[in-house]
Amino acid sequence: MANLQPMLLEPLHAAYVVHERLHEADPEAFKKIASHIRGIAANGESKIDAELLKQLPALEIIAVMGVGYDGVDVAAAKARGIVVTHTPGVLNDDVADLAMALMLTWARQVVRADRFVRDGQWPTSAFPLGRRVSGARLGIVGMGRIGQAIALRAAAFGMQIAYTARSAKADVSLPYLSTPVALAAQSDFLVVITPGGAETRKLIDASVLAALGPKGCLVNVARGSVIDEAALIAALQAGTIAGAALDVFENEPHVPQALREMDNVVLTPHIGSATNDTRQAMANLTLSNLKAHFAGNTLPSPVPECQ
Ligand code: NAP
Repeated sequence: MANLQPMLLEPLHAAYVVHERLHEADPEAFKKIASHIRGIAANGESKIDAELLKQLPALEIIAVMGVGYDGVDVAAAKARGIVVTHTPGVLNDDVADLAMALMLTWARQVVRADRFVRDGQWPTSAFPLGRRVSGARLGIVGMGRIGQAIALRAAAFGMQIAYTARSAKADVSLPYLSTPVALAAQSDFLVVITPGGAETRKLIDASVLAALGPKGCLVNVARGSVIDEAALIAALQAGTIAGAALDVFENEPHVPQALREMDNVVLTPHIGSATNDTRQAMANLTLSNLKAHFAGNTLPSPVPECQ
């Protein structure tokens, strides 16, 4: 039902009767088969709302290939006894790697430096100095599976790490601050890695950006919805913060022209988990969930609300 990669689609076609995004491609044809659909295979960007669920009376499972499932109306699914699964854990390393890559790319101006060499500027001009990452102060917003993987990497860079989450973690020995504003006020880099959805909408607003300050850099590998994007653009334009490195956006795949024109931002197209190895592991886990459900076995990775 979603725009899925061949590594998931091919085994799905081999095991099930698959209707690929028919609800979007041909709504009339979809209406004719909708009552037979028992499962949805989706990804982290899929939108599965109450309206779509209403059209699927036989639906039993929504298997998301991704850890974030903020596009799924889980409450509406649960009310109907439909289970939702996702793929936690297998992508931690890749997303944490990208968070570090974004931080380093922004601070050491890797994209600009590459352009500088290609454009032939090296023989005639000096490349501007960058910012130091090793030893800098890192604030992590969200200390779950991926937040902890980021902290592990940042520790190897000698960064001074602190974090915020809904509550302090007993198994994390780093300093905990109870709000993003308090964390931002003592950070050079603020990395956001919470889930999306209503609870975190615009968690990073103008007040957090003001606290981060004119030398601060915001890194978002969570969801676009977690940042007030208009406030971010205003802060970047006014110099309230120094820059940003963003993998996710409010209205993907559309990125505001204002961001695309700025030199002090690094932009990537939602590639946190986008390596062959990890996408294969995510596809395998998605298939295992579907297989377990239809065999009547215990699900490997239901979302917390369905456990
Ligand atoms: P996780 O283990 O559930 O951790 C989420 C963390 O966010 C927890 O520490 C949680 O706090 C915190 N949090 C939740 N609501 C919060 C709030 N309102 N204020 C402050 N902190 C809050 O999830 P994960 O596996 O690390 O994944 C996190 C998210 O990363 C996913 O949901 C997804 O949106 C995003 N992601 C992005 C990419 C990408 O391609 N860029 C790839 C994978 C995942 P508590 O521990 O106190 O509950």
